[in-house]
Amino acid sequence: MSRHQCPGCGFVFDEKIADPLNGYPAGTRWTALPETYSCPDCSVRDKPDFVKLDDE
Ligand SMILES: [Zn+2]
Repeated sequence: MSRHQCPGCGFVFDEKIADPLNGYPAGTRWTALPETYSCPDCSVRDKPDFVKLDDE
């Protein structure tokens, strides 16, 4: 499982949690997200802007 962080607001997309409110249930892989996926917190940054975090 990997985590990616929004460089704008700090939101972390964790595959273990994913983004169920936006239709991506827990366990959704980062690679499965569309390139048009945008940050659910700030809506300013899109998937290509996110920064990969080190594995836990
Ligand atoms: Zn954000």
